[in-house]
Amino acid sequence: MTRLLIVEDDDMIGGALAESLRANGHDVVWARAGAQALDEGGSFDLVLLDLGLPDLDGVEVCRRLRLAQPGTVIVILTARSEEMDVVVGLEAGADDYLVKPVRLAELHARLRAHLRRGAPTAPERSLIGDLVVDSASRRVTVAGREVVLRSKEFDLLARLAAEPGKAVGRETLMADVWDEHWFGSTKTLDVHIATLRRRLREHADAGTIPEITTLRGHGYRLEAGPEIRSQP
Ligand code: CA
Repeated sequence: MTRLLIVEDDDMIGGALAESLRANGHDVVWARAGAQALDEGGSFDLVLLDLGLPDLDGVEVCRRLRLAQPGTVIVILTARSEEMDVVVGLEAGADDYLVKPVRLAELHARLRAHLRRGAPTAPERSLIGDLVVDSASRRVTVAGREVVLRSKEFDLLARLAAEPGKAVGRETLMADVWDEHWFGSTKTLDVHIATLRRRLREHADAGTIPEITTLRGHGYRLEAGPEIRSQP
């Protein structure tokens, strides 16, 4: 049974979500405020997090949850459709977001996609320069030094590394990494790519790592050869 945390101060929305998720066999804890969410003990498989909370800023709650529970999937629920809120939330460690009003069918489809262990479509191990992406252990290293990635960042890198030097379309990446029936915005993809680049570059002094090239209007390509030179 999966353990889910709903953080939502709206009684109607929180109640509907809790009821629907429990009916689908999930173990659900419902926190009506940010502090209560942070006080919940144990670990959750997934957190549904409203950004507009009565006590704490939802983005701050996201940041603290991410620190406390690195392996938990965090999905932001927001009535604010402004792109900045979503981007800030994703940068604070969220894996995905849903804009309210949320359709339950879409919510369940997304949760299924997040909770299922990624199908091993990528090769077990990709080596590009000093970068090693190991799908069996889900570890990434640069010259033996571990690069700590969140779950979706790993999936994204593993997908690109499965075909080094080849262009991979946005829709393909969204479908393979997030959901096979994606129909929302692909902003999540851009934010994850930006974070992935940053995390890889932090290790550029350890060895040579490949660049992730943006292909305007198409998608991304992980270069086949190392582009970022190690520092002397
Ligand atoms: Ca709210």
